[in-house]
Amino acid sequence: MSEDLGKSGGYQTPVSFGFAEVDAGAKQKLVNDVFTRVATRYDLMNDLMSGGLHRLWKSELLAWLAPPKSAVPYALIDVAGGTGDIAFRFLEQAGKGGSAVVCDISAEMIEAGRARANGEGKLTFVRGNAEALPFADKSFDAYTIAFGMRNLTLIDLALEEAYRVLKPGGRFLCLEFSSVEVPLLDRLYDAYSFGAIPVLGGLVAGDSGAYRYLVESIRRFPDQKSFTGLIEDAGFERTRYRNLTGGIAAIHSAWRL
Ligand code: SAM
Repeated sequence: MSEDLGKSGGYQTPVSFGFAEVDAGAKQKLVNDVFTRVATRYDLMNDLMSGGLHRLWKSELLAWLAPPKSAVPYALIDVAGGTGDIAFRFLEQAGKGGSAVVCDISAEMIEAGRARANGEGKLTFVRGNAEALPFADKSFDAYTIAFGMRNLTLIDLALEEAYRVLKPGGRFLCLEFSSVEVPLLDRLYDAYSFGAIPVLGGLVAGDSGAYRYLVESIRRFPDQKSFTGLIEDAGFERTRYRNLTGGIAAIHSAWRL
């Protein structure tokens, strides 16, 4: 996937790619390469790496969203939605009015998601960049992004886009790895992440480098309070967060009022 779907290609400022610093214009291609390489093993690796915890965390996000059970139209956009985990859960829980769009920049991740969708009519996969969403203003009732935000080049731009495509009264929810706030757990978690995950990635997905990037990118992502500030800078209100498993992950919630 080499074509440019976004705005970040025009910027020269250094940004983080894991622990490395790269030109902002170069990061997206590096991220795309990671997901192109792991797409067919992505779901299996998620279960193995997290011992299935990512499923509980995603269910927690849906529980907090609490989509309406009615026939009233309720449109979700799941950005960086990959193979569709959040969208599938959403459609199971929402009423007849629920519909979902998965928007992801990687053709390979979308392909893996479509293969799971099995013709589900209320689910659409669209290729697009979180920093320049291909949707009109005020199109959606809810915007979710799970484990996608830290892969983006320009988080502030993506948050502005989230705000733009949400209807007034719309809900923003972001599930992302975060900063562990429990003493000792942080050291155990570091040892596991830097020791075991790249090895597992090498054995199962044949790509330890991709998984080293994923671990490093977690450490470069803003902590719970700093990320709250970025969400508010984009115009959102009533921002809250909940830690999951001691802060290994966190869900941030906010509203476009
Ligand atoms: N949300 C899914 C989940 O929780 O299983 C997938 C998360 S995966 C770790 C990150 C996803 O972000 C990948 O599918 C990748 O292609 C996508 N991504 C990376 N940069 C993106 C961008 N600029 N715009 C949209 N999607 C992007």
